[in-house]
Amino acid sequence: MFENLSERLSGVFDRLTKQGALSEDDVKTALREVRVALLEADVSLPVARDFVKAVQEKATGQAVTKSITPGQQVVKIVNDALVETLSGEGEPGALKIDNPPAPILMVGLQGSGKTTTTAKLAKRLTERDGKRVLMASLDVNRPAAMEQLQILGKQIGVDTLPIVKGEDPVQIAKRAKTQASLGGYDVYMLDTAGRLHIDEELIAQAAAVRDVANPRETLLVVDGLTGQDAVNVATEFDDKIGVTGVVLTRMDGDGRGGAALSMRAVTGKPIKFVGLGEKMDALETFEPERIAGRILGMGDIVSLVEKAQQTIEAEQAERMMKRFQKGQFNMNDLKMQLEQMQKMGGMEGVMGMMPGMGKMAKQVQDAGFDDKILSRQIALIQSMTKKERANPQILQASRKKRIAKGAGLEVQELNRLLKMQRQMGDMMKKMGKMGKGGMLKQAMK
Ligand code: GDP
Repeated sequence: MFENLSERLSGVFDRLTKQGALSEDDVKTALREVRVALLEADVSLPVARDFVKAVQEKATGQAVTKSITPGQQVVKIVNDALVETLSGEGEPGALKIDNPPAPILMVGLQGSGKTTTTAKLAKRLTERDGKRVLMASLDVNRPAAMEQLQILGKQIGVDTLPIVKGEDPVQIAKRAKTQASLGGYDVYMLDTAGRLHIDEELIAQAAAVRDVANPRETLLVVDGLTGQDAVNVATEFDDKIGVTGVVLTRMDGDGRGGAALSMRAVTGKPIKFVGLGEKMDALETFEPERIAGRILGMGDIVSLVEKAQQTIEAEQAERMMKRFQKGQFNMNDLKMQLEQMQKMGGMEGVMGMMPGMGKMAKQVQDAGFDDKILSRQIALIQSMTKKERANPQILQASRKKRIAKGAGLEVQELNRLLKMQRQMGDMMKKMGKMGKGGMLKQAMK
């Protein structure tokens, strides 16, 4: 679901996260692309524009704060704005069905999944909420539609209004109301006829039914795969019939995420449920956080942020490599390496990150390297002065004692660290001398 939008946005954030800090220009550039991504995902232009504007306003204040993970920052801002746009008032999925028997009018185009959703919702109300539900099909144009609902009713154990040939939708609605009252039902659901397109007759019929049934809820069922069209349908139905909530079906497919966003923004009507398949229990409460997460591909975001960090680290590594080529490798360089190793989960991770090091992994280990002592080694370096870090060769006995003491460690351990730094420095120099066509260049690829 929402793969297109998610992928697009991933691309945007990917580019953004390659930079060190989040500047206002970055935000603008990123948001321009977010806007394009939204439009491509079939979000309507005004909705995309408003959305981006809201995000821009939120991001501007934060743009000045330097962030180590600007991608994460923008993802969060965009995510929050998505949730806000998608959220309705009150409990998600709540229906006004007190005062029994409460009528629920189901409207929508033919093939939107209206009958299926009617049955799914009836099942949910019965099983989850312990309601007694009666379903009635008002689709006199397609006799098969009435039978379809009857069959589904039997399947899920929910009563359906007996089919009487020759009645019009208003008569059926009246009969459903009477039967629901007499039979002690909590809810009765009216599944109206659909059309391929909205036409006057369809609207007139639904309006007539609405007037006799006086529904507590009028739920519009919309195919989530239809994008922009879905919004037009929703606007039309809401204007003519009055809609209290939307059910988006086929959200199990990899449709364009635009429908949910525009639908909510344009109609202002809450999306109450989403259909996630053909099975009778494939109906879920609409959760803005979850849908926003899906739009953004939140599952990917952790890896996205990690990838971004790797990029930054790779750039750092490249800068370091340039220094090494010149034969420079001091304690600052070593510290940076050690810290990276820590972040990457030790030796193995770093070998992947800085391929040059893989070649000397053995020597490093011989020099007393082991993942567990990373933090101790870093502590030793931290205990050094700026001057000592830049020129470790100046370390004589008294300095060594002071440094080891500062880190709460033995001088022996510091000696091992110094040996490691010298060996790594030598290695770097050798690799550097191999020149641009050499191992180093290969390793950096
Ligand atoms: P109606 O004409 O609006 O009443 O549409 P139906 O309820 O007959 O549904 C049309 C088709 O869509 C049927 O094959 C349903 O099984 C299928 N359908 C309905 N909802 C969903 C959904 O959420 N996901 C998927 N994949 N299919 C659905």
